[in-house]
Amino acid sequence: VKHLWFTVALCSGVVFWLLLLPVLVLALLTLCGQKDASLVGLASLPLSLYSIPSLWDWNVFAIMLLWLLFQSVLSLLPVGKVVQGMPLKNGKTLKYRINGFYALLLSALAVGVAMYYEVDLTYIHAHFLQFYTSALLVSTLLSTYLFIRSRWAPDHERAPAGNSGYVIYDFFMGRELNPRIKNFDIKFFCEMRPGLIGWLVINFAMLLAEMKHQSLDSPSSAMLLINGFQLLWVADGLWHEEKLLTMMDIVYDGFGFMLAFGDLAWVPFTFTCQSYYLVNHPSDLSVFWIVAIILLNAIGYYIFRKANSEKFAFRRNPYDPALSHLKTIPTATGKSLIVSGLWGLVRHPNYLGDIIMALAWSLSCGFSHVIPYFYLVYLLVLLVHREARDEHQCRSKYGSAWEEYCRAVRYRIFPGLY
Ligand code: NDP
Repeated sequence: VKHLWFTVALCSGVVFWLLLLPVLVLALLTLCGQKDASLVGLASLPLSLYSIPSLWDWNVFAIMLLWLLFQSVLSLLPVGKVVQGMPLKNGKTLKYRINGFYALLLSALAVGVAMYYEVDLTYIHAHFLQFYTSALLVSTLLSTYLFIRSRWAPDHERAPAGNSGYVIYDFFMGRELNPRIKNFDIKFFCEMRPGLIGWLVINFAMLLAEMKHQSLDSPSSAMLLINGFQLLWVADGLWHEEKLLTMMDIVYDGFGFMLAFGDLAWVPFTFTCQSYYLVNHPSDLSVFWIVAIILLNAIGYYIFRKANSEKFAFRRNPYDPALSHLKTIPTATGKSLIVSGLWGLVRHPNYLGDIIMALAWSLSCGFSHVIPYFYLVYLLVLLVHREARDEHQCRSKYGSAWEEYCRAVRYRIFPGLY
């Protein structure tokens, strides 16, 4: 009976998320796109807004497929170095071509060419809901394909969390770790390319839409800040693409609906909600406020980048003379834990930096509405949950050494607070 209850709770939890997440994004986008972006405004919207023609357009779907094809071709270009991933359960490693930054540059070139030929990028703004539903369909079809093909995945390719035997749960979590078609790694591609680069293209389209709809000669300062900050975040991620190979998503998580929807629908359509919101609510900030926000973003970026790069360099070569100043705690596994500098301030300084940047992005949009704070709240929830997951894994990996680290570095993310 206990087992039955556990099964029911597990599967109904997943069904809840499967249904809630797509609807949540739809509601957010509907809210963002309104002049009256209040919940009262949302309730009073005509139902025709949710009619099939306003939610679905075959041309938009075709553009979405073209975008995926374009990014796939870029990812296969023989430019950039080829690196080894982390060891799999069978001790072997997979090879990855690192050419994300080139893909970003070529995508920017493609957008430039499109503008030169007077392609109206504000089409993305005008059909934003339809782009979202196309991304939702693509991620659902992709997850179904991944679930079916995972039947034939060898044991060392199976994700620990996605092989419970409960169909719905495994569909959501993903059964296969690194699904590949020849050398094309579907998870690595989806994590970094179509959604992240798409995020920037959407932001730029929103900037043009703001000028068009508000009859402005130049974008509002808030829109410029959002475009600039998020360009920096994505360009940085693609520049350091190789470092993704040590992240939990690549090393531990299976590729199922959760990641496919996250990469292809959640990231490009919720992370852009600030620029989407600004189209109807342009905001010009005082010089003092602009300088203060840029400074806050710079501090967040410094912490985020330094913490991530230091840990990555240390994991690649702990004997690197450039890192000899770091204090460390040895663990029984042979690996050590950094216990000084930023990693001695809190146990997840990289999360702290990310959250500070998210705060700067939200503040750029002012205080008149809660929508621009959606990303900040989401990131807080995500990173606090992620931290708990990581803490659990590290405790079981490193045992007493992890306890010693926790005693030396008391706070998880926020110094003195949490
Ligand atoms: P981390 O890069 O922090 O990786 C955690 C791992 O680092 C641990 O499992 C452990 O692995 C190692 N580690 C932990 N503490 C130490 C230490 N003191 N010394 C050395 N190694 C240590 O986590 P994530 O992969 O979650 O995040 C990477 C970045 O991506 C972060 O900056 C995060 O903010 C960002 N991110 C952003 C998201 C977004 O939506 N904006 C989503 C997810 C992540 P081991 O010992 O095995 O090496």
